Amino acid sequence: MKKTETKSTVLLQHHLKTLKLPTMLAEHEKVAARCATDNMDHLAFLLQLCELELIDRERRAADRRLKSACFPNHKTLDAFDFKAQPSLNKVLITELMRGEYIDKRENILLVGNSGTGKTHVATALGIAACGHGRRVRFFQVTELITQLMEAREERVLMRLRKQLSKLDLLILDELGYVPASKVGSELLFDVISTAYERNSLIVTTNLPFENWTEVLSSERLTGATLDRLTHRCHILEASGESYRLRDAKRRKRPVRSSQSETKTK
Ligand code: ADP
Ligand code: MG
Repeated sequence: MKKTETKSTVLLQHHLKTLKLPTMLAEHEKVAARCATDNMDHLAFLLQLCELELIDRERRAADRRLKSACFPNHKTLDAFDFKAQPSLNKVLITELMRGEYIDKRENILLVGNSGTGKTHVATALGIAACGHGRRVRFFQVTELITQLMEAREERVLMRLRKQLSKLDLLILDELGYVPASKVGSELLFDVISTAYERNSLIVTTNLPFENWTEVLSSERLTGATLDRLTHRCHILEASGESYRLRDAKRRKRPVRSSQSETKTK
């Protein structure tokens, strides 16, 4: 009897491994013991195991989505102080967090000076989208252009484009910090036009629209890019002083006064 039990346990473990059910593999003995104590029937036992596997599978998928999105940091809306940035439309951002804009293939444009929370909000929206099961990828524009140029040189541009077109949401951070070359702008434009038909884009920029020609190297390309980006688009403007600067000033103030008292003499 003991022998059969051991044999069936080993076989069960093998089958669960082959069927790729790691949570069932790890938990079945514990759940079986608990169900026996609670006098639960076989179906209830199986249901509990399946639920555990499903919950864990969804958690693993969410982790994978977050990892492959390559966010620069984990910023959420809970940590965003709207009082410090009253120019940003809190109602609209809270609504966008629900992610319906992705179903409608709408874009989001975050415009404002450096340090006003654009990357923070874009990241929070991206993390929320991952949580809704969307495929997201975050790029700094310069990083994407470099990858596109390298892919072109290595003749793997098609592959990269295909990967990008499979995303639900593409986040392009910091358009406008560094001017792109003619080839770079064209490659970027190509990504934006493809995304325009298939997926949503979030673009953050410090540049007012009239200055986009400076970074996209040609007026024709700038016009065409803006045309695509701003069609079906939510524009969020963050004005005012840099949060970093304000935060640094605020943190310095008390230190300075106490230091000056001790240091002066
Ligand atoms: P931008 O992309 O506009 O240059 P960031 O989003 O990188 O600005 O913001 C700079 C830093 O300040 C980040 O660490 C960000 O989390 C923080 N920050 C900016 N605005 C806020 C805010 N309103 N509430 C909380 N943190 C903020
Ligand atoms: Mg930024």
